[in-house]
Amino acid sequence: MDNNLISRSAMLEELKEWYNEAKERENANYEWETFESSGIESAMLCVENFPAIDALPITGDTSDGYHTFNELYHHRAVLFSVICNDRPGIAWKSKKHHDGTMYNGMFIVGIDTPEGQATYHYDLDPYWDMFHVREVDSAPEWDGHTPDEAIRRIGTLAMVKDAEPVRHGEWILNPSDLYDDATWVCSVCGHEWVLIDGTPQENDMHYCPKCGARMDGGKNNGTAK
Ligand SMILES: [Zn+2]
Repeated sequence: MDNNLISRSAMLEELKEWYNEAKERENANYEWETFESSGIESAMLCVENFPAIDALPITGDTSDGYHTFNELYHHRAVLFSVICNDRPGIAWKSKKHHDGTMYNGMFIVGIDTPEGQATYHYDLDPYWDMFHVREVDSAPEWDGHTPDEAIRRIGTLAMVKDAEPVRHGEWILNPSDLYDDATWVCSVCGHEWVLIDGTPQENDMHYCPKCGARMDGGKNNGTAK
């Protein structure tokens, strides 16, 4: 889109409006051509002959003179990962939206603030591994929050005085299990999880889905067998 042509035609429109207003006000009987020979004509010519400078396409390398978009996106992703990693109990990431869709090569990561969810999309590479939060099959349903609302909600996290410290637990295999399915107990909250196949680690349960405890608090990588 050529912004210069648009603004130029808009300016011409404005000049014609001035002319029409002046004509009405003065009850003048001269024609547009006559009016053009007055001072407005040079203004018109000036606008018409103003060189159309092609606006540079806006890309990730576009800069405001200090930072490029790419740089700012990168900073935003790293800063949000620090916020989420500090609160793994209330943060999550997913390769699918609630409806199963996703933008190509991207994922969604969110945090549940006192005022509701705040989410961002990032490129899988290199940001997926930067977020040490629990992975969910699909994201919670979007509650309609705008980018403005998201950053405002993230701000409310600072108001949470007793932000829960990261709790470290381990998966304990229920020894009284009588069946083939294994029951694993979170050492922090006591919630039981039945796994049909494999250990919690093999099922990527590095956090307790119930209480968010990080399962690195015991021997054998958090698995007490
Ligand atoms: Zn737990």
